[in-house]
Amino acid sequence: METTVGSTRLTLVQGDITTQRVDAIVNAANKALAGGGGVDGAIHRAGGPDIMAECRAIGGCPTGQAVRTTAGRLPAQHLIHTVGPVWSGGSRGEPELLASAYRSSLKLAARHGARRVAFPSISTGVYGYPKALAAAAALQTVCAALQRLSFDEVRFVVFSDDDREVYAQAMRSLSETA
Ligand code: ADP
Repeated sequence: METTVGSTRLTLVQGDITTQRVDAIVNAANKALAGGGGVDGAIHRAGGPDIMAECRAIGGCPTGQAVRTTAGRLPAQHLIHTVGPVWSGGSRGEPELLASAYRSSLKLAARHGARRVAFPSISTGVYGYPKALAAAAALQTVCAALQRLSFDEVRFVVFSDDDREVYAQAMRSLSETA
């Protein structure tokens, strides 16, 4: 599934983000950049130990912000580590922090000249952000950021059938309101 915003294609792909051939892959990291389970674990396993060495040198990343490392053995030039919020009911700034994670990642990717960027569904695994809210926020935030930034493609990579449906619905709503 895909839609176009300005000159940027927004695409939805179901699969493993570590095999996506793009310029920049976004990682749903934790504040310590210490590696973990979920997509973070998969990225470090597939990308190799150099990524963790760079993460250690950087030291950490506040929630809602992003840092860049090389992508090790992943088929990309850049790995953008961003930290989404842990969901705790929605009144602790989670929506703004999630939007900020997407925005910061895109800004950093653009600064490094990336034309194709792949995002996982940030915060919706162990961090517990409700999937439909997170998908709508991801799409709206990326669309808004494309007023100032332009890419060839922003790819949303979902893992499960459920997530694919949730994103497809959010993309349809976006096309209807665009
Ligand atoms: P968070 O800590 O931000 O919640 P998780 O890694 O627990 O991050 O989950 C984020 C999303 O990434 C979930 O939807 C999960 O299903 C998905 N995911 C896990 N592994 C992969 C992978 N290899 N490629 C793409 N998405 C993945």
